[in-house]
Amino acid sequence: MSKQILSYQICNRCVMDTTDPDILFNDKGYCNHCTGAIQRLNKEIFIDPVVKANKLNAIIKEIKEAGNNRNYDCLIGLSGGVDSSYLAYIAVKQFGLRPLAVHLDNGWNSEQAVKNIENIVDKLKIDLNTHVINWEEFKALQTALLKASVIDLELLTDHAIGETIYRISKEYNIKYFLSGYNFQSESVMPASWLYPYKMDSLNIKSIYKKEGAGLKLTTFKFINFYQYLTFGKNSMKLIPILNYLEYNKKEALKVLEEKLDWKNYGNKHDESIFTKFYQDVILTKKFKVDKRRAHYSSLICSGQMAREEALEELKKPLLTEEAYKNNLSYFLKKMNITEGDFDKIMVNEQKDHWYYNSFAKRKHKIGNVYRALFKK
Ligand SMILES: [Zn+2]
Repeated sequence: MSKQILSYQICNRCVMDTTDPDILFNDKGYCNHCTGAIQRLNKEIFIDPVVKANKLNAIIKEIKEAGNNRNYDCLIGLSGGVDSSYLAYIAVKQFGLRPLAVHLDNGWNSEQAVKNIENIVDKLKIDLNTHVINWEEFKALQTALLKASVIDLELLTDHAIGETIYRISKEYNIKYFLSGYNFQSESVMPASWLYPYKMDSLNIKSIYKKEGAGLKLTTFKFINFYQYLTFGKNSMKLIPILNYLEYNKKEALKVLEEKLDWKNYGNKHDESIFTKFYQDVILTKKFKVDKRRAHYSSLICSGQMAREEALEELKKPLLTEEAYKNNLSYFLKKMNITEGDFDKIMVNEQKDHWYYNSFAKRKHKIGNVYRALFKK
């Protein structure tokens, strides 16, 4: 792999390109993303089906035993999107698990996502615990991140989802969280396109302190430093169960539509109006990032999409001019931002999340102190 990028380059195998400033290419013109993803897929996903089935059965058995004499044996997150909806279906219908579904309402759910969730809960006869975030506080936080010009505007929602899952797992004493994350459709995502430490509340607080309008946050719940260090390691076990299945997105969609009256909305993550606006407008226009590239590249790596098809799809605009105008006016009205202020934010220079304080930095510092002491 060499890093001498002088001009635009796109990978010869997937569709990742130099819009990831850290991308590397080998002499065949293959990038580090698909190379790493294919290695991991071969090691963990495309393995002997018998070995994989045995692993899966052992996990299901463990979850069921832990849930004996309890109302629920595991937690699942439900966003109304494909992955989490399919996960709920499989958990109940295929494995006979008794999940408690958890949903986060940050004020941006699309109507279709809400309907999907209602249908799933109703048809699968599972309980749903919805955590509603105070909208004024969430708006103030989102505005601060927007003004800070950091890339990861989903940090707040992802943090809140993690915090909610952590808290509910403690409250109900449920040890297992079945995560909808799957390597078949999410193997490629450049680190430069997000802030990877989603449970890093200090980064959020530090941004809010500098860029926020001063509204006191009294209800928004943050992960503390101890929880940050131990997240998913101690009492709560995260299980990416879709990785143990032959997870195919197109087939999952068919099952959901047929069995759960589930409706599709188009692109990945369109269950949230904010996520859609962020990916279609803010990321593409301000940060010059088109997340479809990573998504399609993941599907290419797992053999679920042809590279030519991905290139054709990428030629299509994310939004028509009319949809752009409608979405923009909805966003501005809900966020209470003027078009002039939004235009200014869109041309402000990007600022790194590392510019602000963070738990990640604190952990690094503590590590250095320990290493120094250990040496002595
Ligand atoms: Zn590639």
